[in-house]
Amino acid sequence: MTGRILVVDDVATNRIVMKVKLATACYAVDQADCGTAALDAARANPPDLILLDVVMPDMSGLEVCRRLKAQPETADIPVILITALADRDSKMAGLEAGADDFLTKPVDEVTLLARVRSLLRARDTARELKQRGEPALGFAEAAAGFTGKEKPGHIALIASGPKGAVLWKTVLDDRVGGAVSILPRDAALGSFGTDDDDAPDVFVIAADLAHRNEGLRLLSDLRSRPGTRNAATVMILPQGDSERAAIALDLGAHDILYDPFDAQELAIRIRAQLGRKRQADRLRASLKAGLDMAVTDSLTGLHNRRYGMFQLEQMLARSGRRLAVMLLDIDHFKQVNDTHGHFAGDQVLDLVARRLRAQVRAGDLLARIGGEEFLVALPDSDSATALARAEQLRAAIADHSFAVGGDTPPLAITLSVGIALAAPGMAETAQSLLDRADAALYGAKAHGRDQVTLSPLPVA
Ligand code: GH3
Ligand code: MG
Ligand code: MG
Repeated sequence: MTGRILVVDDVATNRIVMKVKLATACYAVDQADCGTAALDAARANPPDLILLDVVMPDMSGLEVCRRLKAQPETADIPVILITALADRDSKMAGLEAGADDFLTKPVDEVTLLARVRSLLRARDTARELKQRGEPALGFAEAAAGFTGKEKPGHIALIASGPKGAVLWKTVLDDRVGGAVSILPRDAALGSFGTDDDDAPDVFVIAADLAHRNEGLRLLSDLRSRPGTRNAATVMILPQGDSERAAIALDLGAHDILYDPFDAQELAIRIRAQLGRKRQADRLRASLKAGLDMAVTDSLTGLHNRRYGMFQLEQMLARSGRRLAVMLLDIDHFKQVNDTHGHFAGDQVLDLVARRLRAQVRAGDLLARIGGEEFLVALPDSDSATALARAEQLRAAIADHSFAVGGDTPPLAITLSVGIALAAPGMAETAQSLLDRADAALYGAKAHGRDQVTLSPLPVA
């Protein structure tokens, strides 16, 4: 993994030692010899990560960290504080100032490099999400009502035994904003399916559960499953076990802590992870909203033409399958607009879409591909099935009138359907299928509308 790291220390020897460690792992290194120089360098050319000495003559590392976090252009740069004094207060102050971790001199190289890799990876993920998710953020908030309504965080504790878990919970209950629950290992694996809405935001996991390393394996499992892969994970390791701490970070743990731990420290670290998770959730929601908008017709909520055509190509590409393609066009729709107004017309389109949606099944395709024109594609359908299904769709519209509200009386609406069948072994494109369905639709219109017509198969 490449990255540019800013090393800040007032002692030249310390900078050089650090530079050698990082250069061996192929990181590019910038240097600054005081707090002011560090702030200038970070602003002028933001590095991917900062290693920050705490005690410096012009400004403490804590103050530098606070200032970095207060400025939007430098706020997201991960910071590791490096210090000779590992007293509790300065450690807490550093974490409160927004530092991601705190390492004591002399810095253990294995731990340092694992931590750097983990922070750079987290930063890459956050950055990519931001680039893709941010342009649509406004829409997501409007669409999902995201602002102000965020759920309180959910923290799940998976300890080696019930006693340990209860102890952790007692320690955390009043210190983190959110619900803290104790989870048996099997429940962590079994309870959260594909939708991560119900999954905990943060898992706190002991490295050893019933068996040695079982917590590490659980971490890998959670990171690989769709329901839990976006959750933050904090790994708790026995004091001094820096080797497995490095492994945990490389397996994807977002943070690590040694047992026995300081309750306040665990709480601060969990709160930091909750904040990060929440920001990522928001960006993911906005990304999804943006993607949904690109493929959705805003009036009816059906797939739009572009996405419908794309899906049709995909269905067709799954070779060896029989595919029925239908074009459905509302009859004399212009008259609805002309007589009852454009708004009533829109209502009819929305209601027609709903009725069609109620008829299609999982695996079918339904899209609005023109003003009053819909596309339906049914996989694995022969002509008898396709005709029967088309007839159902036709009847779903024609058999009951449409109440569009206002002073408008219930409207009788009908549509015409043209069907084309793709058979295996015949070279057909989505467009040639649609052309044949369109020709069949034209036939249905010519023969009086409110009916279904099947296109003859092309001559091989
Ligand atoms: P036919 O039975 O031959 O299909 O007749 P038609 O009137 O349905 O067909 P035509 O293509 O002449 O008219 C389609 C009309 O659909 C014209 C257009 O104004 C209307 N339309 C297209 N999109 C929308 C829409 O989003 N909302 C409303 N209200 N009307 C729309
Ligand atoms: Mg029409
Ligand atoms: Mg039309």
